[in-house]
Amino acid sequence: MEKMQEILNAAENCRRQVFEAERFLWQHPQTGYTEWEANEYLIEKFEALGYTLVRADRDPAHGKIPGFYTDVDTELPGPTLCIMGELDALDIAGHPESVNGMCHSCGHNAQGAVMLGIATVLKQEPAVLQGLCGKIRLMLVPAEEMIQLAFRSELIRQGTVSYMGGKVEFLSRGYFDGVDLALMMHAAANPDPVDFGCAKGNNGCMSKVITYRGKAAHAGGAPHMGVNAQYAATLGLQACNDLRETFQEKDVVRFHPILKGAACAVNIIPDEMTVESYVRAANVEAMQRENKKLNRALAGAAAAVGCELHIEDKPGYFPEYHDPAYMQLVEKVCEELVGKDRVSFNYGLWGAASSDFGDVTAVMPGIQLLCVGATGLAHGVDYQIADPERVMINGMKAELLTAVQLLKDGAAAAKEIAANYQPAFASISEYLAALQQLSMDRDVVEYTENGDVVLHLSEKV
Ligand SMILES: [Zn+2]
Ligand SMILES: [Zn+2]
Repeated sequence: MEKMQEILNAAENCRRQVFEAERFLWQHPQTGYTEWEANEYLIEKFEALGYTLVRADRDPAHGKIPGFYTDVDTELPGPTLCIMGELDALDIAGHPESVNGMCHSCGHNAQGAVMLGIATVLKQEPAVLQGLCGKIRLMLVPAEEMIQLAFRSELIRQGTVSYMGGKVEFLSRGYFDGVDLALMMHAAANPDPVDFGCAKGNNGCMSKVITYRGKAAHAGGAPHMGVNAQYAATLGLQACNDLRETFQEKDVVRFHPILKGAACAVNIIPDEMTVESYVRAANVEAMQRENKKLNRALAGAAAAVGCELHIEDKPGYFPEYHDPAYMQLVEKVCEELVGKDRVSFNYGLWGAASSDFGDVTAVMPGIQLLCVGATGLAHGVDYQIADPERVMINGMKAELLTAVQLLKDGAAAAKEIAANYQPAFASISEYLAALQQLSMDRDVVEYTENGDVVLHLSEKV
């Protein structure tokens, strides 16, 4: 109990820095892999506290991106817990407080502020670490939101990054090597009268860029000379819609394509139409299975109209799975903090959204804790961290107390959770190999000289 009080006092003492950081980050929103202002601000603050950082912009083996980590060592052997915060904002020019068209409409600004609070407590109140063993890795990660697919594809082509998502990139760079458990908080605008929430998990996803190519021609005078890429695309989406009843409820499949528009005048047969989408599902097997069917439908439509079709599939995020034993530990911490009636952990609830925290839980136990106190719609134009006290001071305290519960008594709880967890992959390298299975980048429809049409639905070997 005494230790708990020490931690709560320490968290209270850095309230000012946390609120200041939240405001600065809110006022300097930048999207994934361009979060340089937040990165610089937090690096300066962490270094002023005396931390030595491993910086993703100074990694000699990889391209320069925002993000960093540092280890807090208890000096006693034991597992490593990674507590992380996300840096990126969204393109949402309609938000009244957007800056250069961007805003923290997912509340990641609160995460950066909480990380600074935790870093401050661990440095300035070393008594908090007494009686613990192992290490706490504090990590700021870029690019959680899977947006700006073309920009990220370009970064991949240039070799700056290898993956669309920041945590996936960090896993591939080795920044999670030696980590045994992960923890993060996320602001939530939950209308329920609770302060903390957590569900069983969330869908995984992959990204698709689907390009139909036809032939431009005079739309009135000579449509017979053209091949209409827009018709092929809409027919493709119709075929995909006709598959929806074959999706099984247990797989929570989501396919939400958008047409990117025709780049020609109204009196021209459109020669190109791009469709972007994700395929989301609760497990990787379903994601691959349904994606293959959707690709066949898209390709069949191209063949029907006589179009070329290029499909670029990229791994997005793995399903996020919260280990029940780990959930129970965090739930108990939250209940001690705010009372049983203000905590809502649902061990059966599955969400259809996706996060690259799922990639972390594919290789180690991890919990994404929802801290209520935001208002408006997530990713909406009215989103605000309306109650910074509830979101951030609660969040900071819960993460610190969770670290203590995991790492005290010879890290008995951390060791037990890590030993019993059955991750989707036994190692990060196995996970990275599986990611490749979700990639395809090729022309799909082949018109042969004898008039046959061949659909290529697997990556070239
Ligand atoms: Zn988001
Ligand atoms: Zn978010």
